[in-house]
Amino acid sequence: MPETTICPKCNSPLSEATETPNGRKLQRCSKGSWNAETRQTEGCDYVLWLAVEPETLDEKCPKCDAPLVLQVTRFGKKMKKCSTNTWDPTTKTASGCDFVEWINGTTEETDEKCPECDEPLVIFTTAKGKRMKKCSTAGWDRETRQATGCTHIEWLNASK
Ligand SMILES: [Zn+2]
Ligand SMILES: [Zn+2]
Ligand SMILES: [Zn+2]
Repeated sequence: MPETTICPKCNSPLSEATETPNGRKLQRCSKGSWNAETRQTEGCDYVLWLAVEPETLDEKCPKCDAPLVLQVTRFGKKMKKCSTNTWDPTTKTASGCDFVEWINGTTEETDEKCPECDEPLVIFTTAKGKRMKKCSTAGWDRETRQATGCTHIEWLNASK
């Protein structure tokens, strides 16, 4: 059993961990709740983001033949990396095999709101490395090949 974590803002226990659609895990304060109608947190707004355990894949590292793991970063980006690779947060150095493969077509959350519908914006990186800011309600229906949700998009200039 994980230890009960106490909210640093109001000293209430945190609620059980929940998972977002893009694989991030979080624990809200038990004194706070998300109101879907007003789109605001009611009560205490403390949120603890949890580290996501890497998932071992059925693929081998092309460099050293060790198994690969799938890891989701704090920003919802996914990457495949070698399971022998470890990160030491104290010395800020990586050790082991350095093979990393970013999974293309990733989204990052932002603090900005969509000017059209007030939902959060996300930064989407396409498989070709183009970046755009789009509304988090936007989706793609693979069957009808049509965009769904809010259509707000801002292309970001390439940094290179
Ligand atoms: Zn709290
Ligand atoms: Zn490796
Ligand atoms: Zn929108």
